[in-house]
Amino acid sequence: MPAYDELESEVIEGGLCTYCGACVASCPLHHLKWIDGGPKRPEKKAACEDCETCYRACYRTEIGKGAIEEEIFGRRRKGGEDIGIYRRAIAARATDGSILEKAQDGGVVTAILVYMLEEKIIDGAILTGRGREEDDWMPFPKVAKSKEEIISAAGTKYGVSPNLMMVRTAVIDEVLDNLCVVGLPCHVQAVRHLQHIKFDLSPAIKFVIGLFCRENFEYVQMSKGVKERGVEMEEVEKISISKGFFNVHTSDTKLSIPLKETAVWHSKHCLTCDDYSAELADISVGSEGSKEGWSSVIIRTEKGEEVFSEAESKGYIRTEEVVDLEYIKENAMRKMQSRSRDS
Ligand SMILES: Cc1cc2nc3c(=O)[nH]c(=O)nc-3n(C[C@H](O)[C@H](O)[C@H](O)COP(=O)(O)OP(=O)(O)OC[C@H]3O[C@@H](n4cnc5c(N)ncnc54)[C@H](O)[C@@H]3O)c2cc1C
Repeated sequence: MPAYDELESEVIEGGLCTYCGACVASCPLHHLKWIDGGPKRPEKKAACEDCETCYRACYRTEIGKGAIEEEIFGRRRKGGEDIGIYRRAIAARATDGSILEKAQDGGVVTAILVYMLEEKIIDGAILTGRGREEDDWMPFPKVAKSKEEIISAAGTKYGVSPNLMMVRTAVIDEVLDNLCVVGLPCHVQAVRHLQHIKFDLSPAIKFVIGLFCRENFEYVQMSKGVKERGVEMEEVEKISISKGFFNVHTSDTKLSIPLKETAVWHSKHCLTCDDYSAELADISVGSEGSKEGWSSVIIRTEKGEEVFSEAESKGYIRTEEVVDLEYIKENAMRKMQSRSRDS
């Protein structure tokens, strides 16, 4: 029966682990912990009973989106559905200035979370905060239970964040039972896998917001690279990627690094991922395909449609019918093709 030792050799050391944190949340004995210093990874902290729960909880041991698509959408995708199954795509922007101030693009992710919290659709969100270990931009997973906590997590942090580790914290320690998980395509696939295998804490996850992602970066390498170019991470106000550049903004400067120079910071596990637009989320959000300060939103499920439409009609977001879906599809195709070339 495969258990932690197999998870370690096949997935963690086999280069397939996306560091989503699901295995840590799944251990019934709480014997897995997340190692932060040095290479970030899950590790066994006490004797294991070889119960196989962590192995089953890992979406990378059972790769394949087909059965999960059937569960979520009632069918598998057809040929040509390169960004997965969806209902519609639209450009959107938050209306609350305090959200826009902190947000990466249109603040749609944060505005929808605030709407769901205020309408009591959720009682908490699992997302990615920043500022751990006196390092301002280091991403870390977080459970947010208030509007202020949700807004403080707005903005893109480049680096791995084992968000699903927080499922246990949210459900057991914080006693929350209506959660939204925000994450990259890898987190979204991991959540859907937990729901598919009927992991006992997964019924608490009611909504999933996915982010577009070409690739992630190793935080330690990235921050070192930025420092070598003369900018301290404490000074950084925003990091963005646009038009072929990795941009590091401070209050009075903008360091623009050509993307080809940043390839050395890429997380290696991203080479095994072909999902650009978080194809299994209720709604997916990205910057590409919309003008600056707006977000591109792909509404995929009935629940996604309900939440998005209500958030708009209650004034949390506004929309414009201009989104370059062809460009989004091209990006998805490019990611898929580069992964099949590299594999
Ligand atoms: C590593 C990474 C790569 C990305 N690549 C692309 C891309 O190639 N093309 C594209 O169009 N968009 C990409 N995005 C998405 C984009 O940067 C914005 O997150 C998205 O447009 C939503 O903007 P917003 O203003 O609505 O979000 P906001 O309202 O600012 O909310 C952002 C949310 O993202 C979450 N978050 C931040 N950092 C991370 C992280 N490291 N892991 C998981 N969740 C996180 C926060 O918890 C927050 O809730 C990427 C995001 C990340 C984190």
